[in-house]
Amino acid sequence: MEKLYDSFDRLHDYVRLSITDRCNLRCVYCMPKEGLPFFPTDRVLSQDEIVQMIENFAAMGVSKVRITGGEPLLRTDVVEIVRRIKAVDGINDVSITTNGLFLAKLAKPLKEAGLDRLNISLDTFKPDRYRKITRGGNIQQVLDGIATASKLHFKKIKLNIVLIKGQNDDEVLDFLQYTKDHDVNARFIEFMPIGNSLKTWQKEYVGLKSVFDTCDDNGLTYHPIELRGNGPSDNYQIDGYEGSFGLIHPISSKFCENCNRLRITADGYVKACLYWNEEIDIRAAIGDPTAFRQLIQKALDNKPLNHEMAMKETDRIIDKAPTWRHMSQIGG
Ligand code: SAM
Ligand code: SF4
Repeated sequence: MEKLYDSFDRLHDYVRLSITDRCNLRCVYCMPKEGLPFFPTDRVLSQDEIVQMIENFAAMGVSKVRITGGEPLLRTDVVEIVRRIKAVDGINDVSITTNGLFLAKLAKPLKEAGLDRLNISLDTFKPDRYRKITRGGNIQQVLDGIATASKLHFKKIKLNIVLIKGQNDDEVLDFLQYTKDHDVNARFIEFMPIGNSLKTWQKEYVGLKSVFDTCDDNGLTYHPIELRGNGPSDNYQIDGYEGSFGLIHPISSKFCENCNRLRITADGYVKACLYWNEEIDIRAAIGDPTAFRQLIQKALDNKPLNHEMAMKETDRIIDKAPTWRHMSQIGG
């Protein structure tokens, strides 16, 4: 089997697949408060197209698929999508990133369909803050979803926490302490300047050194750990705690050097890099594995070594532009 490599010899065996651009929240760092014009249904990949596409990828050595959105659990066929992707020969790890609002109902059918891992976005434990950050969400629904999922023996449950200055950066200790008797990985993610967040990013960005500082200030000792399927995060465990914590620091630290991922948008474009605007429409080629492979390889041949998210406008390479998409239109 001829596997997928980019021009820097990075093997690509991981696909992040957005199955919808729609969402039932409007998180401040992700979407504008008035929402976005969502794609009409016929612009979004159908279940059959998704499955055929994953079959094409599996034939090129892809073994891991993460389903994302928008909010993936809004798609009424999400359980069937998971079941069919998991059944594709060569795919051995299927995960979902979700805001968790519908998880209390869907965690069990998703597990039964073969879902291996869950990432649940939860930026605060405080109900009023949650409502403010998500612009209207009810935290109890997410907590109920986490409680249901926790009993189902997923390979791993991670909490995704985007730290935002002045909004939740005083809760680092609360999240670390949550891992004391919960077997979850609390993943702190640096706020990225993509789409909606461009306007506020500079003021609200928090570097993740603050997580280590919080440990040190509170006498918490920790050690590095290896987590299977950990992607770009560095992982640690506080001594004696059941769970662990992870850091995803695209801005303050190296993030791209081992990048193994391809992103597929809900409207059928491949993005080789989260940040840059380059993307290729692959929808029409889904039924033709040879043409499909050529387009994916073209995207990889043009994949840059790094994103340049933190560079000032003036320093930016002028013949390249950042993506026009908001994060909810890529999938994170
Ligand atoms: N709706 C699902 C959710 O919220 O988990 C999946 C899609 S969401 C776009 C995927 C991830 O991207 C979430 O964990 C979210 O916190 C993260 N995200 C969105 N905008 C971000 C930004 N500007 N910087 C860093 N992470 C961001
Ligand atoms: Fe929706 Fe997820 Fe974006 Fe929040 S982060 S607005 S839940 S897509």
